[in-house]
Amino acid sequence: MQKRIVVGRDRHPECPLCARKMQELVTKKGNFYACFNMDCMIWIDANDPCVGRWQEMKLEDRPKCPLCSAPLNYFFRSDKFMKMQCPNNGKKHEPFQILRGRVEDFPKEQR
Ligand SMILES: [Zn+2]
Ligand SMILES: [Zn+2]
Repeated sequence: MQKRIVVGRDRHPECPLCARKMQELVTKKGNFYACFNMDCMIWIDANDPCVGRWQEMKLEDRPKCPLCSAPLNYFFRSDKFMKMQCPNNGKKHEPFQILRGRVEDFPKEQR
């Protein structure tokens, strides 16, 4: 039997990119978890089966940061949007991120 991770209202998932607790947003379209940290800016439907599964990818299976070769932190949703980010952003080097998915889902560039 497959193990399911149940995330209750009082137990929001951690943002896989910055490890802070995600906020829960209650909207007309349903509930979402989101992280509005400047480097993260990610959101996911609270009912998405990907919620809380971001740590399941082993560190050795993850792409490596080309700047410091650390395994990248990894966020994904079932609609194929994904974001990878180096855990050493802003510490060892400038931010390094990889985005995949629909362009309209990408965080707005700071200009
Ligand atoms: Zn975050
Ligand atoms: Zn790096």
